[in-house]
This record gives sequence, C-alpha cells and structure tokens, in this order.
Amino acid sequence: MSEPFPLEPSLWAATAPAAVPTPPLLESVTTDVCIVGAGYAGLSTALHLAERGIKAVVLEAKEPGFGGSGRNGGQVIPGLKFDPDELETMFGKERGPRLVDFVGRTADVVWELIDKHGMDVPNTRNGWIQSAISNAAVGPIESRAAQWQKRGAPVQVLDRRETAQHVGHEQYVASWIDRRGGVVQPLAYARGLAKAAIAAGAAVHGDTQATALERKGSQWIVTTARGATVTADRVVLATNGYTGDLWPHLRQTIIAANSFQVATKPLSDNVRKSILPGGQSTSDSRRIGLYYRLDHTGRFLLGGRGTMREPRRAEDWAHIETMMEKMFPQLKGAGIDFRWGGRVALTRDHLPHLHEPAPGLLIDIGCMGRGVALQSAMGRAMATYIASGDPLALPIPPSKVSPLPFHGLNKLYFQAFVTWYRFLDRRDADAA
Ligand SMILES: Cc1cc2nc3c(=O)[nH]c(=O)nc-3n(C[C@H](O)[C@H](O)[C@H](O)COP(=O)(O)OP(=O)(O)OC[C@H]3O[C@@H](n4cnc5c(N)ncnc54)[C@H](O)[C@@H]3O)c2cc1C
Repeated sequence: MSEPFPLEPSLWAATAPAAVPTPPLLESVTTDVCIVGAGYAGLSTALHLAERGIKAVVLEAKEPGFGGSGRNGGQVIPGLKFDPDELETMFGKERGPRLVDFVGRTADVVWELIDKHGMDVPNTRNGWIQSAISNAAVGPIESRAAQWQKRGAPVQVLDRRETAQHVGHEQYVASWIDRRGGVVQPLAYARGLAKAAIAAGAAVHGDTQATALERKGSQWIVTTARGATVTADRVVLATNGYTGDLWPHLRQTIIAANSFQVATKPLSDNVRKSILPGGQSTSDSRRIGLYYRLDHTGRFLLGGRGTMREPRRAEDWAHIETMMEKMFPQLKGAGIDFRWGGRVALTRDHLPHLHEPAPGLLIDIGCMGRGVALQSAMGRAMATYIASGDPLALPIPPSKVSPLPFHGLNKLYFQAFVTWYRFLDRRDADAA
C-alpha cells in the first residue's frame, strides 16, 4: 500500500485545537482490549469501554484522527446509503427495525459526546441537505424523506425554489433536509474523543503501528513496529480505509478510494451569505457525489471523488475546483487555501461490515464514506457488545471476511465506473 497523503495540508489540521499528547508505546503491556486505529470507531470504542471500567489500549500508526476521521467533510449524517424500508427488508423482523433505529440516532451520539465531554469542536446542528441534480433523483429523495417522516424523524422535502433558497444556486430540481444532521470540525472532534477516552482511563498511543496479530492460548498478542507488544483478551480492528495486512484478506474486502477536498480563503460577508445561508451542508445526488459547506472560519469547502492514487499536484483537484466555480460563479477568484484528501472504504454491498473471524477479535470496516455519525455510534455499540456479550448490541451481525475476487482488478473497474458515472451525471444534470 502506498504511503497515505499527509494530514497537514488540510484545513482541519490548520484550524483544530492542539492534540492531547499520545506518546508511542515503548514497553509491552497487558490490557483487557487492544484497539488498532484511532479514528472515531477506535476512539469511541475505547472511551465507552473505559467508562465501563474495561481497560483499553489504542494503537495508532500516526496520530488520532490521521485517517478519514481527521480529513472528512465534517458532515454529520444519520442513516446509511439504504433507506429504512430497504434495511428492514434486508435485515428481517428482529434486526431490521433495530438497525433503522440505530442509524436514525447516530447523529445524536455525536452531539451527546461533544456535550457530555465539553469538547472544543466548532459545530452547527442545522440539518443536512441532499439535493437532486435530475428529475430521476426526485422520486427516491421523496420516498426517503417519507420513510423517515413515518418514523418520526424531523425531515422535510424542499421544492426547487426552497432548495435554491437553502443552497444558494438554482441547479437542483428538489432536495430533502434532515434536521438530525449538521456539521463538525472533524479533526477537532477526533481529538476531543481522544482526550475524553484518555480522561476516562484508556491509553492512546500515537506513532505506534501494529505490525502483527497473533492468538496465543486464550489471549491476543499485538506486536508493534518498535517491538513492544500488547497482550489482550480481545482485539478490535478499526483501521477502515487505512487497513493493511494485519488480518489475512481483510484489505481485499474493501476498495480504499480517495475523496478529495478543497477550501477557499475566508470569503467576504456578502459572498458568504449567498451560499447555504442556514449553515447546512449539502451532498448531491450525483453518482459521483459532491458535498460542500461553509466552515466556522467562513471558508467554502467542497469535496468529491479523487484519483485512485494519492494526489501529487494541484491539478489532481482541478475537477472539483471547476465544479465549484460552475455552481457558484461568485467563488471565481476566491483563491484556494487548502487541498487535501483521504481514503474511504467502499464495500461491494454498500453496507458497513463487522467481522468476528476468531474468538475475541472484532473488526469494523467499510463505512462507505459516511462515518462521522456511524462510527461514533458503532464504537459505543462495540463497547456494549464487548461488555455484555449480547449479539444484539451490534447493529449488524458479524459476517465472514470475504475478499473481493480479483481485488487488484477491482480498482481498475472502479476507475472505469467513476469515468462512466461522471459522464452519466453530466448528462442528467444537463437534462434537468
Ligand atoms: C475526504 C473524506 C471526506 C469524508 N466526508 C465525510 C463526511 O462529510 N461525513 C461522513 O459521515 N463521513 C465522511 N467521510 C468518511 C469518514 O471520514 C470515515 O467514515 C470515518 O472517519 C472512518 O472512521 P474510522 O474510525 O472507521 O477510520 P479512520 O478514521 O480512517 O481511522 C483508521 C485509523 O487506523 C490507523 N491504522 C491503520 N492501520 C494501522 C496499524 N496497523 N496500526 C495502527 N494504526 C493503524 C490509521 O492511521 C487511521 O488513523 C469522509 C472521508 C474522507 C476521506
């Protein structure tokens, strides 16, 4: 796997509060649970375990929030890519409604944690808007909103005029607003979780890559790059799009695709007021979707799919900068302050996956680019499962580690699909 794109060029690294110290692990230790990966999933698991008096040691190759958790768009979006009715059909009478209830509350978990632990996280909870770029996308959006409304969620369909008022341009046919959602400064939130986990009693070690995982008797031994080991009753792998070869074939169960983002220089008041004046974020219905919002420093930021390889030069972001100026001509000449990107873990069935391939080993992977809310809640659920042993504490049942056939080729197919989908998106948008 190539070296991941660094965190520093991001808007979030430039504007987050300082990180709590997370010194590397230099001496071998014994604990109840060893967690690999300090993103939202790993840190939330550690925090909730520690709050229950269960000893947790987190190993992070770089620093907390180095992965998707410190680089994302900061959109806190409840739900999964599937609609509630679909989830109930897919997961059956017992699991289905529980899963819908779980995913409907994931955004609540983020604000509960921010409030409970007094985290220094710039955030706004004014809703998330999903906009239809074509007439064909309106039906699914209306159905999605109706299904959530039926379950009591504060959501609403916006017509073309209302969408234009909310978003600030007239290219969408309609949209729905989900008022459970909102925005956070994602790295500040990851750092807030790390601080809360440490305060609750968990140990978090940065600059500590786990290099091997081995079962010895009833225990797990996790070896790290400097040689120190963690002996634990249980292990949680929470490495998501940054998964390496710790567990056989795990990396081949996902496509680690890049999402790229840009942020402008701080905008003038007039321009700022003309874009998403209600403070929401938007994702649009394109197959290769765009997402954008303003941040707490008055910058406009926009993200979309990137190249499969790590970005190298400014031209790698040119396609999303062109889209930005096409949607909001007032941003021409605004100047780009930050360009960055990160990896999202895509699964073949478009669902997040949990695996339990050996006793005491739990794996959480594949959040399909929508993990701020999901992984915060998943960490809490994994901690409950570990503490209680109740399989229903996990929102989805663990499945077999099932690698994508011809994984290397899948990346090529994926790139071909991206090109084809971009063409279809342009065609649909022109026809709307
Ligand atoms: C550019 C971008 C934009 C996104 N926008 C949004 C958005 O707006 N809203 C949303 O909900 N989601 C968004 N996502 C997705 C979201 O960021 C992720 O779903 C979420 O952060 C995943 O959290 P995680 O804890 O599972 O994994 P990560 O945050 O990716 O953490 C995995 C960690 O594991 C560490 N690691 C890997 N291997 C090892 C090892 N061997 N030893 C030790 N540590 C290891 C990595 O260094 C990394 O820090 C976006 C993602 C990206 C990349």
